[in-house]
Formats: sequence, C-alpha cells, structure tokens
Amino acid sequence: MVERTVVIVGATGSIGRQTVEVLKKLKGYRLVGFTYHSNISLANIIKKDFPEAEMVSTKEGYEGVFQLVEKLKPDTVVLAVPGFSGFEICLGVIPHTKRIALANKESLVCGGKFIKTLTKEHDVEIVPIDSEHSAIFQIIEDDPVKVVLTASGGALRDWPVEKLKHATIDDVLKHPVWSMGVKVTVDSATMVNKALEVLEAMELFSLSREQIEVLLHREGKVHGMVYLKDGTVKIHASLPDMRIPIAYSLTYPERTFEYRNYPEIFELKFEKPDRSRYPLFYLVDDIYSSYSLRTVYNSADEVAVQAFSEGRIGFTDIFKVVEKTLEKMNVEEVNSHEELKMIHERAKIVAKDVVECLSK
Ligand code: MG
Repeated sequence: MVERTVVIVGATGSIGRQTVEVLKKLKGYRLVGFTYHSNISLANIIKKDFPEAEMVSTKEGYEGVFQLVEKLKPDTVVLAVPGFSGFEICLGVIPHTKRIALANKESLVCGGKFIKTLTKEHDVEIVPIDSEHSAIFQIIEDDPVKVVLTASGGALRDWPVEKLKHATIDDVLKHPVWSMGVKVTVDSATMVNKALEVLEAMELFSLSREQIEVLLHREGKVHGMVYLKDGTVKIHASLPDMRIPIAYSLTYPERTFEYRNYPEIFELKFEKPDRSRYPLFYLVDDIYSSYSLRTVYNSADEVAVQAFSEGRIGFTDIFKVVEKTLEKMNVEEVNSHEELKMIHERAKIVAKDVVECLSK
C-alpha cells in the first residue's frame, strides 16, 4: 500500500486534535507536519506520537505554514484553522498539495471564487470535513433536485424566544449534540453556522440557494439528504462524531477507517427553523449572491461572538451587530483576495463600533 502523507494546519484545535486521533488508528497515512498557534504543550504531545512530523507555530504569521507545505509537498493538507486567515492559508497551500481536507468555512464562504479558480489551476481536490458537507459529498449525484442540510438548533433551541436575550456564554456552550470550539458552538445557537454551511454547499456542489434546504433535526443522526429527479431521496446517517467525516476526508474514495458504532433505530423527525428564534440564519437570503456581503456577515459575526463570549453584549445583540454592520457597509464585488481582506478588516472595525454602542 502506498503511504499517503498528511499535514495538519491547526493541529491543536478541536478538528485538529480529532484528526490526530484518527491518524493514530488509520493505516497507510503518515503525519509529516503540523502547525499550532500557541498551545505548545499539546503540540509537544502530538510530536511525541509522531516524532518524525515537523511542527511550526503560526503565532508570528503564516509564512512558516507555506514553507512547511512547500518543502513537504504532502498528499493531503487538513485545513483546520478557523476564521478569515484560514482562507488566506488555503490560497497559499493549494499549489503544494493534491487534496485539501477542508474544515475552514471562510475559504469557500468568503473566497469561494478565488479558491475554486486556484484548485482548478493546480488540479487540487477539496474534500469537506464538515459533517453536513461530508454527508452530501458522499451521496450526491449529477443533477440533484435539492439537498437538505440538517441543523441541531444549538443549545438554546428549547428556550422561550423572549428569554434568549438573557442567555450567557455558559448556557450556549452546553451543546446538545456536538462537541466543538467556542465560535462554532455560539454560531450553532444562532444558526449562523448553518447560514455559512448553505453558502459553502453552494460552492462545493455548484448549487443555487433555492436548491438548499435547512431542517432542524434534533437527534443529530441524519447529516444530509439529496433529492433526485426520479423520486429517490438519499439520506446520510451516522453517529454525530467528527472522526467519521475527518477519516473520510483522508481516505476518500476508500473507506478504511474502522469505527463500527451506529445510531440506534430512530424516527425521522425534521422541522423548519423558526424565523423569530433564528433571525441571523435568515439573513443568508440577503447576502448569498455577493462574496463581499458574505464576508461582512461573517466578519461582523466573528466580532459579535467574541463580544458575547466576553459578556459585553447579550445573545440577541449578535443579530443586531451583524444586521447593523451589513447596513452600514457599502460594499462592491471584489476582484482580488486583497480587496476581500480589506472588506474583512473594515467590517470588523464597523462591527466593533456597533458593539461599543450596544455595550454602553
Ligand atoms: Mg456542520
């Protein structure tokens, strides 16, 4: 068996750590390098498991990441850093690998058109790690009628809507289904996460907004569905464990990861997300057609979630920050990733102003 080499960008984060766990079990894959931001003690533990792997810190910037992948030319780069910088890293690593196992949302949400041009140019495949996209990736066929992405609804899904404004970061972090990082857990409660996933699915599978439906599925066992012309509905189900899609992103088109745990027989229950509970999700319909607006939405959310997790604004203020920032920013479509970065930076400044006003 030919050994495939892997580099993890963001090895000490939630997805990164689980990728390391998968690699320990998976035969035929070798971790040749990884990056970490500041968690040096965890980085050293990974290094103990994979002594040959080269490690690089991204604390001072991303130049080291680019040098690492250029030197190692790994078969797969697992891109597991959150935020807009993940998009910039993605652009830089594409020329030096064959596959991006993608866990960073901004790469396609904000920079989809730039990433897709570059992957075509360098003949690089993108295999999604996000559970919903992995599900669709595994079952989609040519010319689908529509796809369904499922959502858990987050930690506050059963709270009375009028009480949401009193929710604290601790309330939000009690996620009912998945264990994930802080930003994505808050984004799950507001369903910003699902809005970003709609945008990502449009890019990954060349779908229109109308072809993507989002349904709440509380049990977290069905991750995606594909409706086909002949009346068939393909459904992807598994336990909600990120190691399954992570492993598939590495082994695709094969399935060599041994897991053998399955959901117990369950009822299929789905509901439409309530507009008054998830207003941030429905903003997706105002922004999906512009990469610039998508970037403003995402950057404003980043600032708002940070402020919320520091207790400076309330939970329902996250919506106000994003809505106000979109209102205040006058953006045009961009022609370069540098221009997109400027929009990202500008949106953060505007969003911070809005946070200031709200927290007074
Ligand atoms: Mg997801």
